[in-house]
Amino acid sequence: MDIAANIKKFRSEISDDVILVAISKTKPNEDLQEAYDAGQRIFGENRIQEMSDKSETLPKDIEWHMVGHVQTNKVKDMAPYVSLVHSADRPKLFKEINKEAEKNDRTIKVLLQVKIAEEDSKYGMPFEKAEAFLKNEKAKDYPHVKLMGLMGMATFTDDEEQVTKEFKTLKELYERFKESNDLTILSTGMSGDYKLGLAQGSNMIRIGSSIFGKRG
Ligand SMILES: *Cc1c(COP(=O)(O)O)cnc(C)c1O
Repeated sequence: MDIAANIKKFRSEISDDVILVAISKTKPNEDLQEAYDAGQRIFGENRIQEMSDKSETLPKDIEWHMVGHVQTNKVKDMAPYVSLVHSADRPKLFKEINKEAEKNDRTIKVLLQVKIAEEDSKYGMPFEKAEAFLKNEKAKDYPHVKLMGLMGMATFTDDEEQVTKEFKTLKELYERFKESNDLTILSTGMSGDYKLGLAQGSNMIRIGSSIFGKRG
């Protein structure tokens, strides 16, 4: 894998207003450094311990995004430095992030992860609950949490129509509530489906294997 070339390829392929999150989970620091040297500054991880270890050794101007499921008892470990949590999917987690952000005298940015996949997935707030959460502007109950937008993962399938339908559902939710909730980020699309995400209005894509190669 030529990581630098992959970063450049993505940057030239996507428009300037789309944010590229390099998903570096399981990859060694050297790989992240290579991406960094090619200009990448935003990295996403799915385990808090691994993200914390990497953040201690790698350059300090990296923005660390948490994209994986977060246990409430681990929030404190990332609260001092995390830049964006993509996987805020339940009020209890908003509450915990709020508490730990306050302790660190900061505001933590999050995305509401919504379950849009038809397949059984444990993660993401069920669609109707997310709708009510946005309608009632519940994020405003947490003054040290800043809700920036929505994140969703589509069903793992080759059926492009299915994936498009799921992304569109999230895009519509985003459009309905972006003004009232002051949302600016729609995070849909990974290596296998980012083109479909972008076609449905995504402005943040999360790319792992197409940058760093397959994970072991
Ligand atoms: C691993 C992961 C990605 C990246 O997946 P690739 O298919 O390797 O691009 C994106 N988003 C989340 C939430 C992930 O866990």
